[in-house]
Amino acid sequence: MKNSRIRNYARVVLLILLLFPAAFLSAQQAQRAPKISPRAIAKDSRPRLVLLIVVDQFRYDYLTRFGDLFGASGIGRLMREGAFWTEANFDHMPTYTAPGHAVFMTGAWPSQTGIIANEWYERDTGRKVKSVTDDSTTKLAGLPDEKGYSPRRLLCSTVGDEIRLADGDRSKVIGISTKDRSAILPSGRRANAAYWFGTDNGNMLSSSYYFNQEPQWVERFNRRRLADQLFGARWDRLLPEAEYLKRAGKDDVPWENLDKSSKDTNSFPHVITGGAASPSKMFYKALDYTPFANDLLVAFAEEAITNEELGANADTDLLTLSFSANDYVGHRFGPYSHEAMDMTLRVDRQIGTLLDFVDAHVGLRNTVVIFSADHGASPVPEQAALMNLPGRRYQRSDLLQIVEDGLKAKYARKDRPAADYIQGFTNRAETEPGLLNGNLYLNRAALKRDGIDPDECERVVGELAMRLPGVARYFTRNQLERNQILSSDAVARRVLNGFYPSRSGDVIVVFEPYSILFDPPDDPTDPRPTATHGSPYSYDTHVPLIIMGRDFANGRYTQPATPADIAPTLAGLLRVQAPSCSVGRVLSEALISERRRVGAVARP
Ligand SMILES: [Zn+2]
Repeated sequence: MKNSRIRNYARVVLLILLLFPAAFLSAQQAQRAPKISPRAIAKDSRPRLVLLIVVDQFRYDYLTRFGDLFGASGIGRLMREGAFWTEANFDHMPTYTAPGHAVFMTGAWPSQTGIIANEWYERDTGRKVKSVTDDSTTKLAGLPDEKGYSPRRLLCSTVGDEIRLADGDRSKVIGISTKDRSAILPSGRRANAAYWFGTDNGNMLSSSYYFNQEPQWVERFNRRRLADQLFGARWDRLLPEAEYLKRAGKDDVPWENLDKSSKDTNSFPHVITGGAASPSKMFYKALDYTPFANDLLVAFAEEAITNEELGANADTDLLTLSFSANDYVGHRFGPYSHEAMDMTLRVDRQIGTLLDFVDAHVGLRNTVVIFSADHGASPVPEQAALMNLPGRRYQRSDLLQIVEDGLKAKYARKDRPAADYIQGFTNRAETEPGLLNGNLYLNRAALKRDGIDPDECERVVGELAMRLPGVARYFTRNQLERNQILSSDAVARRVLNGFYPSRSGDVIVVFEPYSILFDPPDDPTDPRPTATHGSPYSYDTHVPLIIMGRDFANGRYTQPATPADIAPTLAGLLRVQAPSCSVGRVLSEALISERRRVGAVARP
């Protein structure tokens, strides 16, 4: 009798382990509170899930240009039911992906997070690094023995870090994106995991920073080869062409410069093969430039919510999700294109799918949803010219040549060629002169050798840069380190907020509105960008900021706000320590006061 009961019990356990290996793993990982049904509202007034949704390169005006075409359950619902700030701007430059993504959950600018750009030159090692480079880690599910990424260069704690520190790691924090940096930086240093799309093999990758092997549900997801099923997929407009002609001009325009080898055209429909005969690296890279990449992310996020049981109990979990494909498409076609418009309409539907899923599994009543973007975008310079806007395209070599020639003219003597005053850095086994993100890096050893005062040389370099038409202003290290900046000067303030002494250059050059200095792509197989972002001007800084949840009073808020306000607002709501560097303000105008809510609950 007893034996058969033990046998039965063992059989049941074995069956559970076979059917639900993930359940066994997650049971090992943490002492989680009991599950609550999605329909029930937690007795504890804290939300069970915080969902940060970022769309990469989403200008504020996409809401006003295309918002009437949004569906019922996506961004349109957030605009209708959420607290919606119409004047949210980033307050740093360069307005790039990594610095922007580091702001949301730290509440801090690059001057504190240390994430000054997507890539920068590292003086200690003499090389170019990415914001998430970490050679002490390996990539999981990538190519064999590939070096990995981590949040170790992020110098501040995040909301996710603080909620895990506060509850003994019972909360789960997960970051997901197509781009590595956009998954890793918002989730933070103490995250359980970050996952991103690998263009070498079509897998969702992670890093040994988080664990030695990806969870079984991720391995199962990768085995489904969902990306491969999209080979040859045809991307056409969601709505009739007339809507696009009305709002985004002509489709077939000369500045949209598609790589010939991709066998794609610069107008709809786009057939996605990357020029390859079967799924391979060129195809996976091409997939990044389509709405299908966002579909993959939604499918993966749903798996994460289910398998990691996000929002299933009273310990608040955090999921950060960043849609990168909108940025890739924006770079290729520009903000006034049929493709950018279609990506916007489609990401609205994709967010709707995800929100419906969250509602069914967690309950939107138990969730705080935040919607924002890491930066906007400038029009394609050639298109801007046709629109009678100022500005033009500049290449890196245009600026470098003027500065190098000028330095020689000023300082060279018979015994002193003055040819090495710009610091060289290694990048992919080659040495390149230190000009990146509008930052010029001086060779301090060479200046010392030749007895040149670095402060003076910074000013000389800045004045030389001003000779290039399109350069508006320059800032020197000396000026920024001594804080000789008027905070009422928005451009100067944004430069200062983007400056981190040990990572930034010595002279920072700011271009006039609509003029852009294009850095060549780091990977030579990447196409040259048509449009870009990075400036301190409103087309790059002005982004959506919407928070939807039962603690936020629905409505439009015209007060100035920034994406750095999200983190301190959430920390207050979740009753955890504000992230270490947080300088944003609590968005109190939209918070339904604790007293009112407690009063409302107490009444019979
Ligand atoms: Zn971006």
